[in-house]
Amino acid sequence: MASRSGQPSLMVHGGAWNIPAELEADCRAGCARALQTGWQILAQGGSAIDAVEAAIVVLEEDPVFDAGVGSHLNADGVVQMDAILMDGETLNAGAVAAVEHIRNPIRAARCILEKGPHILLAGTGAERFAAACGIPLCEPSELIVPREKQRWEALRKQGQLRTTPERPGSTVGAVARDAQGRIAAGTSTGGTFGKHPGRIGDSPLVGCGCYADSESAAASATGWGESIMKIVMAKMAVDLVRAGLSPAAAALRSVHRLAERVQGSGGLILLDRLGRIGAAFNTPHMVYGYVAADGSLVVHT
Ligand code: ASP
Repeated sequence: MASRSGQPSLMVHGGAWNIPAELEADCRAGCARALQTGWQILAQGGSAIDAVEAAIVVLEEDPVFDAGVGSHLNADGVVQMDAILMDGETLNAGAVAAVEHIRNPIRAARCILEKGPHILLAGTGAERFAAACGIPLCEPSELIVPREKQRWEALRKQGQLRTTPERPGSTVGAVARDAQGRIAAGTSTGGTFGKHPGRIGDSPLVGCGCYADSESAAASATGWGESIMKIVMAKMAVDLVRAGLSPAAAALRSVHRLAERVQGSGGLILLDRLGRIGAAFNTPHMVYGYVAADGSLVVHT
């Protein structure tokens, strides 16, 4: 059997959307910090799954992104978050949906992945599971930042408090390959602004907002979840790599399909079992970054 060892590889994103100019520098800095954290783990021989989880925790803690602290508010003015972590070696995944009391939903996803037997837990059941794993629960108010509160209040006054496909957000994600050739992917989000309470998007669904298979590739998607779910976009991208496309070509093809078949908007990052990377989006911007071959951090918006 051919050796699977080799160079580690890491990519992160902070959402495909119309990033306002005043948030661009913060989005870039946040992605750079997440890359540094994940890369430190990979460079020391750590696992892809640890690197993905750690990078996403950094992004969840950064208030500029729509994940963890800083998440968008739903129609009730409440934060409800979704997250998933998938291990490409085993195809095991752990995911949470519509949680309100977990500061780092990706940690709860990791716990579900490891403890089994379930893959996706929602709401209070997910929170109970996380608490039993030793993850402290938080006050929902801890997750709300002034920017999001003001936006919600302003739109409510204007009678515009509804979710629209033009307003996806700064969902976060990461994909990694470690030095042993294992790959993993994760995605975390507060979901779309003004969504109906209880709405669950593509992000925590295996194959939609995230997929990883060490035999082919790992993907994390972002954008209008109701469209991404219809084409099962992350799995589509991974299957295109399995069929022989490069990650760059597979990412492009998947985003074209999103636009053509369901008129969806969004993007994705993709990394194959050899560590080659790809990214594509059809929104005005997507913030994403990777660690280049010389070890430097590259971030695009
Ligand atoms: N895909 C996320 C959702 O629909 C939103 C996003 O990526 O911005 O919940």
